[in-house]
Amino acid sequence: MSAGVGSTAWMERAQRVIPGGVSSPVRAFGAVGGTPLVYRRGTGVDLEDVDGNHYIDFVCSWGPLILGHAHPEVREAIHAAVDRGTTFGAPGEAEIELAELIVASYPGLEQVRFTSSGTEATMSAIRVARGATGRDKIVKFAGCYHGHADHLLVAAGSGLVTFGHPSSAGVPDAFAAETIVLPLDDTQRMTELLRREGDRIAAVIIEPVPANNGLLLQRPEFLAALRAETQRAGTLLIFDEVISGFRLARGGAAERYGITPDLATFGKIIGGGLPVGAFGGRRDIMRHLAPLGPVYQAGTLSGNAVAMAAGLATLRILGREDAYTKLEAAGAALGAALGPVLAGAPFPAQLVRMGSLFWVCLQGGAAPRAAEAVSSDAGPLYRRLFHAMLRRGIAMAPSAYEVGFLSLAHEPAHLGRLRDALQESLHTPDVDVA
Ligand SMILES: *Cc1c(COP(=O)(O)O)cnc(C)c1O
Repeated sequence: MSAGVGSTAWMERAQRVIPGGVSSPVRAFGAVGGTPLVYRRGTGVDLEDVDGNHYIDFVCSWGPLILGHAHPEVREAIHAAVDRGTTFGAPGEAEIELAELIVASYPGLEQVRFTSSGTEATMSAIRVARGATGRDKIVKFAGCYHGHADHLLVAAGSGLVTFGHPSSAGVPDAFAAETIVLPLDDTQRMTELLRREGDRIAAVIIEPVPANNGLLLQRPEFLAALRAETQRAGTLLIFDEVISGFRLARGGAAERYGITPDLATFGKIIGGGLPVGAFGGRRDIMRHLAPLGPVYQAGTLSGNAVAMAAGLATLRILGREDAYTKLEAAGAALGAALGPVLAGAPFPAQLVRMGSLFWVCLQGGAAPRAAEAVSSDAGPLYRRLFHAMLRRGIAMAPSAYEVGFLSLAHEPAHLGRLRDALQESLHTPDVDVA
């Protein structure tokens, strides 16, 4: 077992009062077995659990911590904001400055509005798209995650019927029926649908770099065709950049691919470790939002002073430090270190990577570009690998289908330890977990 007595005791208490003991399901270790670690401190790349064990963190709170844990300047900005009061329920200086910074950074973005999570951002972007176009249907892609709003918790229907069905209990069929699910990387299906039914489709939402079902890197031609076909149909293209925004470039995946969406959603990094989301786009779309227009959207703590200060500090540091060159170099170093180790694994394995996002993909052949191409057999292998790594002080995501994150705090020595731990873990038959 990897969890010490402290984590085990805390998780017993947690399970009594929190469903599954967690506030977000993947944290429960359901996919890897064993007891989740309960952490009490994060500094740079280091995580310390309640038993005093230390781990090098390659999860980074699922993306927000691009500077590592508790960056001194971000902490200072948060402290200073707290000292002035946490929330005013009114416009604030940091909120306006952060909006200016995001608008200046992201291609085609003219206006942005803050929410308190990525889920609210995608939900609100879809509502404004529907309000602006007067159309009801939306399209999403299988394998992309956009938070847990009802009409986005939808899986592909079977056969020729592309209308979705709920992927969660509690979502009415009638809601899911407004969502059409397409496979990624299939230009023909996408083009046919938009040409046939585009005049009923308000928006197509996509993670331009899908990073929630492994890392499914898209062909630039597919994204370019999606841009062209949505434009032709008068359907709005929403890039969900909640992970990729400010991670792959200042201008996210849009900058990286040179493709400008109509709307974009943000979260994670722009909150500097506090709860934040944002959605934005061209002024002629965003003017449909209340109070300017009829599309209602609101939030008591939206744009609160503390989250805005944390986000602003984070984005300013990223802007100042040649951050994306460094993150790219760290990613390349990771690739060079892990590539040969994975190639020598006793089972098919490869590293899939873009910038500071990576996925240890436990299948052979070409890297999958669509959810349908992702092997479902990786679970048991990953489970052993995950615990073997944890025993060696490396915290990876507790699921074979979640990506890893590098931060500016990861140094060559940390990547070296990751490589060595991986080499050992792949070749030592560690005892399995119950
Ligand atoms: C994390 C995530 C969301 C949801 O953000 P929350 O803040 O967890 O609600 C939406 N889209 C993508 C691509 C994400 O990775």
